[in-house]
Amino acid sequence: MNDELRPTALVFLEQRGGQLVPAALEALAAAQQLSAAAGLKVEAAVLGNAEETAAAASQAAAFRVEKLWMARHARLSPYVAEAYIEAAGALLARALPQWVFFCHSYQTRDYAPRLADRAGRELLGDVTALRREEGGLICSRPMYQGKLAAEFVSTLPPPLFLSLQIGAFSAEGLERAPAAAPVEALEPEISAPRVHPGEPFREARQAVDLGQAGKIVAVGRGIREEKNIELARQLAELLGAELAASRPICDNGWLPMDRQVGSSGQTVAPRLYLALGISGAIQHLVGMKASRTVVAINKDAAAPIFEAADIGAVGDLFEIVPALIAALKARA
Ligand SMILES: Cc1cc2nc3c(=O)[nH]c(=O)nc-3n(C[C@H](O)[C@H](O)[C@H](O)COP(=O)(O)OP(=O)(O)OC[C@H]3O[C@@H](n4cnc5c(N)ncnc54)[C@H](O)[C@@H]3O)c2cc1C
Repeated sequence: MNDELRPTALVFLEQRGGQLVPAALEALAAAQQLSAAAGLKVEAAVLGNAEETAAAASQAAAFRVEKLWMARHARLSPYVAEAYIEAAGALLARALPQWVFFCHSYQTRDYAPRLADRAGRELLGDVTALRREEGGLICSRPMYQGKLAAEFVSTLPPPLFLSLQIGAFSAEGLERAPAAAPVEALEPEISAPRVHPGEPFREARQAVDLGQAGKIVAVGRGIREEKNIELARQLAELLGAELAASRPICDNGWLPMDRQVGSSGQTVAPRLYLALGISGAIQHLVGMKASRTVVAINKDAAAPIFEAADIGAVGDLFEIVPALIAALKARA
């Protein structure tokens, strides 16, 4: 199979309801950056039913790729890992890339390792940096709950499967397409799935993918009591931000688990991350360190969160947050 591989990096672009998720574009940006150094061409792939792939492909067409692949089938919507593995496997057999890129989302964590395994390879997950050296491609990823960043070089023959940590690569520098790339659509055989998805585990009303949020107000144990979360909620609403939390808040059941940021929660990369009464334990920092601007309010000047903060306010959140709310209301 190796001899047949083409000098391409193929990026699987995740879509939801035909809309490309922001992290998919970060994966594309990473592939574009690397391809220039490595002399590889970048191709992209979208999976879904006919409507979803058409919509996602028209968004992807704005960016520089040599070719756009589509694998479409009614059984690819709603998402089921088995069906995705079959479709992506058929697509890989046609596209024959040397590198295969994914964003490190819940969906790809579910199916991409099994896809790599099917190809006799492994998936190197949650990659935060890539660099090309003579020995091969050097991939950095966190270890031990983010305490260390380790560098890996794959000793397996290509194709190399990688998923990229959300927020680790910026989509801002994405190269635009000079002209529409050719499109190749596949309608792969997909067996009737043995697994039937139930209702999405989050209710539509509360659906939150913090990884895609532009602004986040996060609360920690400094909030003291469940009823005080209302204060953070008000601030979040006024800022147009999502509400998130450190682990103890979710463990207490004060906010749902899908609002937890950190090594055992979501990885986020908003433009603004406002941390209220969060100490900044490593397990929390690893989930939000890619945020563009971090503002921390904490009454302990020695709290580690200040090391990650661009703006820090040492003080009582029960004084500062109401003042912020009043100021925002006055401006509204
Ligand atoms: C395997 C493992 C996985 C973990 N995964 C995660 C994870 O995904 N996410 C996560 O967050 N944690 C995680 N943790 C827990 C983590 O180690 C910390 O215990 C947790 O992040 C602490 O949460 P906190 O900052 O809200 O609370 P604390 O550490 O108790 O900090 C509270 C902060 O609030 C400040 N404060 C108190 N009152 C006020 C006030 N009135 N005004 C302003 N500031 C005030 C205090 O000075 C303090 O700094 C994990 C731990 C383990 C072992």
